[in-house]
Amino acid sequence: MKTNLDIKALDSAHHLHPFTTHHELREQGPRVITHADGVYIYDEDENQIIDGMAGLWCVNIGYGRQELVDVAAETMKTLSYYNLFFQTTTPYVAKLADLIAEKTPEGLDQITFGSSGSEAVDTAIKLIWYYWNLEGKPEKKAIISRERAYHGSTVAGASMSGLPFMQGIFDLPLPRFHHAGPPPHYYEYAKDGESEHDFAMRCAKAVEDKILELGPENVAAFAGEPVMGAGGLMLPPEGYWQEIERICRKYDVLLWSDEVICGFGRTGEWFGCQTYGFTPDIMTMAKGVTSGYVPLSATALNKRMADPIINADTEMAHGFTYSGHPVACAVAIRNIELLDELGLVGERGAEISRYFQDKLKTLDDHPLVGETRGVGLLGALEIVKNKETKERFDPAGSAGLACRNHCFQSGVVMRAVGDAMFLCPPLVISESEIDEMFARIRKALDLTAKELD
Ligand code: PLP
Repeated sequence: MKTNLDIKALDSAHHLHPFTTHHELREQGPRVITHADGVYIYDEDENQIIDGMAGLWCVNIGYGRQELVDVAAETMKTLSYYNLFFQTTTPYVAKLADLIAEKTPEGLDQITFGSSGSEAVDTAIKLIWYYWNLEGKPEKKAIISRERAYHGSTVAGASMSGLPFMQGIFDLPLPRFHHAGPPPHYYEYAKDGESEHDFAMRCAKAVEDKILELGPENVAAFAGEPVMGAGGLMLPPEGYWQEIERICRKYDVLLWSDEVICGFGRTGEWFGCQTYGFTPDIMTMAKGVTSGYVPLSATALNKRMADPIINADTEMAHGFTYSGHPVACAVAIRNIELLDELGLVGERGAEISRYFQDKLKTLDDHPLVGETRGVGLLGALEIVKNKETKERFDPAGSAGLACRNHCFQSGVVMRAVGDAMFLCPPLVISESEIDEMFARIRKALDLTAKELD
């Protein structure tokens, strides 16, 4: 291994980053993050930066927890690897399946594992198709999701995502994937004078219209994120999920909650579907299950879906080398126990979420902020030129980019999608760290306003 080399030069010479315009990155050079602790990340110049995004929405328990380091090391020594094919199991995967089944909504207690959110999504798609084949309805294959949804970047995940920029260049989406609009985001998509309730019903009706257009006999499932995440942090309007659930039941369409971001305490409950009061048939989860310390994902099925699969004469010919990896499962178990022990999905979580949401609201008075919104420890703000008319800066996205850069320079990570800025801090964040984070954000907004003036 080469030593003492310039990391930026090495990276630029050999590394193709995810979701990156490469020639731009190679001209500018990447940021190098070298270590992290609690809610802070540090770059190679020892700048201390508050990670307002918990990595990529995943480090729920915060960085550098010794308990997780210890359990990973112990498990590597005891059982560094074994697979779950050929009728074998390990104590780690069996205990984790049991623990997750305890947290999921009633009935969603049959769990299969993968390593990434995208793998969980691919798994869900295959199991949905397999289920309908077993039920003698092989024509039920269409999957409906939402415009601007994000469901991963494998061939199937990108097809299901409602983001054309990830599709066209790869000749996606595949057939069978359909998208309903508008996204359920009142601020951006409601018509003048439309009530939140009417808007919620219009968004849900777009799904019903899509089911009817395709023919209910051809529709396998509707997939949604309880709070839409990576495509633009969008909170469902009041009543939206109940109406979606009603429509899915009416047309015998499976309801799929993609909990990859919302799971494990992010919205205040263990899962987003619990926060929003609906019960899916199938759930996908990743990220917060291990707080990002090691890769692990899971797909949970209810009895309706699981029974035919369990009783089938055919083999469920699906799985991965690393399904239920012992080290990942051991870390997930300890991580979930810690979330419990620290009350982060409970009293303490509720208390710190209230504090966070109150602080977020204080940004409403900033001249650039058109809207703030949030739930649990998720938050977003919209940057606008004119608060009354919601007019944006030209070109679209330039204000978000400027703000994101000022945030980083001011010592806080916020993510920008277009001109919306997101926050998703570790659940362990304290009141004083929240104060510090919002002081840095306000400074970044002031600097952005000056730059755009
Ligand atoms: N589903 C949702 C809702 C996500 O937010 C993501 C990632 O952000 C994924 C799936 C894909 O997860 P991964 O990046 O681990 O493949």
